Amino acid sequence: GQCVAVCPVGALTERDQTGAVIRALSNPDKTVVVQTAPAVRAALGEEFGQEAGTLVTGKMAAALRRLGFDYVFDTDFAADLTIMEEGTELLDRLTRHLNGDSTVKLPILTSCCPAWVKFIEHNFPSLLDVPSSAKSPQQMFGAVAKNYFAEKLNVDRKKLVVVSIMPCVAKKYERGRDEFAVDGNSDVDFVLTTRELSHLIKLANIDFHTLPDEEFDQPMGMSTGASVIFGTTGGVIEAAVRTAYELYTKKPLPKVEFEELRGMEGLRHATIDFGGLPLHIGIAHGLGNARKLLEEIAAGRSQFHAIEIMSCPGGCIGGGGQPFHHGKSDILKKRQQAIYQEDRNKPIRKSHENPFIYQLYEEYLGEPMSEKAHHLLHTKYFDRSTVFEQDGNASETDDKK
Ligand code: SF4
Repeated sequence: GQCVAVCPVGALTERDQTGAVIRALSNPDKTVVVQTAPAVRAALGEEFGQEAGTLVTGKMAAALRRLGFDYVFDTDFAADLTIMEEGTELLDRLTRHLNGDSTVKLPILTSCCPAWVKFIEHNFPSLLDVPSSAKSPQQMFGAVAKNYFAEKLNVDRKKLVVVSIMPCVAKKYERGRDEFAVDGNSDVDFVLTTRELSHLIKLANIDFHTLPDEEFDQPMGMSTGASVIFGTTGGVIEAAVRTAYELYTKKPLPKVEFEELRGMEGLRHATIDFGGLPLHIGIAHGLGNARKLLEEIAAGRSQFHAIEIMSCPGGCIGGGGQPFHHGKSDILKKRQQAIYQEDRNKPIRKSHENPFIYQLYEEYLGEPMSEKAHHLLHTKYFDRSTVFEQDGNASETDDKK
C-alpha cells in the first residue's frame, strides 16, 4: 500500500502494472484475457497523433492480438449484462413502489463508476441502499470470465488472467476491492489505462497506423450500441431506458435515441414517457454536482426515479487514464460524438437483444436477478465514513454488513 490518506477517487493508489501484464503474456502457463472499456476506443488514437474523435476500435483489437492476448474481449459485453441486471432492478423497485411498498428505495442510482461509489461510501453512509447493487461492467466481466468462461475452457481461475484496459484510474482501485476476489484471486487481475496501453503498444514496436481493423473474439466480444454509450455522461441511463422501456411497456421503442438525456451540462434532468408513466431521470457528472443530488435524496426531496452519476467531466471519455485533454472541452465533445457514432454503427442497439447475453442467461445464469446472477453480478457497499485507509482498498476494519 502506498496511499496513507483517504482518497475518494483512489487516484493515489495508481500503480503501473504494465510489467506484470508483460510477465503474464509471456508465461505459457497462463491464458490471458483482455477487456476494453467503451471510452478507450474513442481516445486511444490521440496517443498516436490521430484527431480527437477518431474511432480506433478495430486497430485496438488488432494491437491487443499482436501483444499476445489469447482472447480479445470487450467490456461492452459486460455493459450489456449490467443493463440486464440494473434495468431489471429498476423495474423491480419501480413496480413495488407503484404498488405502495414503502420499504422500497427510489431513486435508484447507477453504480458503475468506482470513484462515485467510494464517494458515497465515505460521505453518505446513510444512503448505501440507494445505488443499484449491480456490479460495474469491469467487475461483471471479471466474474463471468473467471467463472463461466474459465469453466468453458476448463482452465483453473488462477491460470486465467484478466486484464482491463480502462479510461480510468479508479478502476485500479476497484479491481482490488476485497469483495471482488475468491480465495485471494481477483476477478480482474490487472488494469492498464488508455495511456499505459499506448505505451505498451509503442514498447512492442507495433505500428498502430498500419494495423488492419480486426474484430473482437466471441462470445464476450459481442456488444450492442447501448453498451458503447456507457462511455459518456447520460449513456448508462439511456442504455437502461432502452431496455427498461421495452420490458415495462412490452412495446418496441418508437425511437432508440434519447436526445433529452444527452449533453454536457453538469446537472441534467429529463422525463421519459413509459407508456403513460412519467419516469423522472437525473444525470450528474462531477462529484460536486453529484453531491447536490445526494443531498436532495438525504433530505427526502428528490423527485427522481433513477439517477446516473459519473465522477469525471463528460463521463469516462474524460477519465483520468485517458490521453491528456488539458481541459479542452472540444476534445471531450469529439470523443462524445465518436461514442454516439459507434452506437449508430452497431446493428443491434439494445442490450436485451445481444444474442450472447441471451445465451449466457440460457446456459448459465437463468434470468436477471436470479440467485446465480445475484451471486456473480451484484455487490454491496460499505460504510467508510470513519475508515482510515492504508492502501485505498477495503481494510479489515471495514463494516462488512
Ligand atoms: Fe472512472 Fe471517471 Fe468513468 Fe468514473 S467517470 S468510471 S472515475 S473514468
